[in-house]
Amino acid sequence: MRLSIFHDARSRGVLSAVSAALEKTYGLETRETLEKAPLDKALNTRRGQFNASILLSTLAKEAHRPFLWILSSDIYVKGMNFVFGVALFGVGAVLSTYRLDSLDLVRKEAIHEMGHVLGLSHCENECVMQFSNSVAEAKMKPSKLCSKCKNKLEKMLSSLSFD
Ligand SMILES: [Zn+2]
Ligand SMILES: [Zn+2]
Repeated sequence: MRLSIFHDARSRGVLSAVSAALEKTYGLETRETLEKAPLDKALNTRRGQFNASILLSTLAKEAHRPFLWILSSDIYVKGMNFVFGVALFGVGAVLSTYRLDSLDLVRKEAIHEMGHVLGLSHCENECVMQFSNSVAEAKMKPSKLCSKCKNKLEKMLSSLSFD
């Protein structure tokens, strides 16, 4: 399965690490990396943040699936002060490095969001699919899938088809 990775200019530095982690975890091979800045129409000037739902749905109309869009700006979804990322099953995800202070965290959250894209839900085991609401929580969870999620993933991968 092949993955398209979009990134803004300041996120170029994380591409190779993220790409390698996603290939190792999910067998997702990066088919292309494309520079794409966040869209003005998704900027909430009052909050100084981009609406991740708008970014995700806009890119979903034009990109190969699955995709990952890595941005250095802060993002949010309705009802949340901020999010690290947002994902749409079978389609793609948007990930913000804004609050992630290490490459390890960026990699971990990329694995988490792409897990959602491939059909995984939040998990309470020692698992990268644990929900994290803060950087401290994100740091505490492992960067690997637990065995339950691995089994679920295998079943999902055989039923998913991407272009
Ligand atoms: Zn999640
Ligand atoms: Zn799990």
